[in-house]
Amino acid sequence: MAKTAFVDFKAVKAAITMEQVLQHYGLLEKFKRGTDSLNGPCPIHNGSNPTQFRVSISKNIWNCFSECKHGGNVLDFIAEMEKVSIHAAALKAIGWFKLDPQAMAATSDNGEPGETDRPTPAPTAAPKPASPPRPAPASTPESSAPNTPLKFRLDKLERSHPYLLEERGLTPETIVDFGIGFCSKGMMADRIAIPIHNVKGEVVAYAGRFNGVPPEGAPKYKLPAGFRKAQELFNLDRAIKESADVPLVIVEGFFDAMKLHQHGCCKVVALMGSTMSAAQEQLIRQHTNSRSHVIVMLDENEAGKAGREDIACRLSKFCFVRVLQFDQPDMEPEHLSGEEVQQFMEGTL
Ligand SMILES: [Zn+2]
Repeated sequence: MAKTAFVDFKAVKAAITMEQVLQHYGLLEKFKRGTDSLNGPCPIHNGSNPTQFRVSISKNIWNCFSECKHGGNVLDFIAEMEKVSIHAAALKAIGWFKLDPQAMAATSDNGEPGETDRPTPAPTAAPKPASPPRPAPASTPESSAPNTPLKFRLDKLERSHPYLLEERGLTPETIVDFGIGFCSKGMMADRIAIPIHNVKGEVVAYAGRFNGVPPEGAPKYKLPAGFRKAQELFNLDRAIKESADVPLVIVEGFFDAMKLHQHGCCKVVALMGSTMSAAQEQLIRQHTNSRSHVIVMLDENEAGKAGREDIACRLSKFCFVRVLQFDQPDMEPEHLSGEEVQQFMEGTL
């Protein structure tokens, strides 16, 4: 598609819904549906509050009531997510949702790009949710583009920070093993920097966990803009080196994975969330076979329960899946004792 094409933004906006775009990013599972709304954590500033980001379905607009403090239409959203112009966002939308670029091209004689006043072929009523083109997240080049390995390393990380040793109960060995540490300055200031490796073992990003309860409006985790966490599984590069006879354990968070590893459960990967993206499913599929065993152990909360059901259903098509549930509400794998980890590895928990 020619980059210079003039795009009729109104037609693009009318052709796609916020719901489709959230689905494209693999975020829809995180959202709760109201009568005319979708509510969830803000994907733009990577927030965690489940009500801070609101979509009006009928108006096809969004608002972040937290850090971003603004909102907009569906193209504004893509522009924010991709850090590109509205024009580039429209072109991306055309590609992702296989819209007809001919129909989307502005044909005004004055050649002015941008938001035209021309009436669009379709009535300007709210987009019809019944028959939108199906998004195809798995086949879009943008969303499946691999993360680029970083050319730098964060050094001078403080390995013996009390947050890691006391608050999270990690041993110095685990801290060094995972290369994490407290960062006192720069973009990760006051955060625990956690390197994320791709399957080849190259560092593709650092996640920054605030050391403690973050101040009002600050996210618990910071991830670099443009990093696609849906493309990676934390610790996969090391998990695949473990014996094929050992089950692969899937958890939600970095600290779940690090803690299980510390307790001797080394074949563990973290989704970095409570849902499994298509790319993550593909990664698991590539490193398992029909005899492989997978244990899904998400947090014992609503998101974790929904996530594990979906994951078990999808993975059971190509390997053996066991879902581990906890009796205690809000229990997280991170809080298992070494003894309990041994028990579940032996299949007795
Ligand atoms: Zn926000």
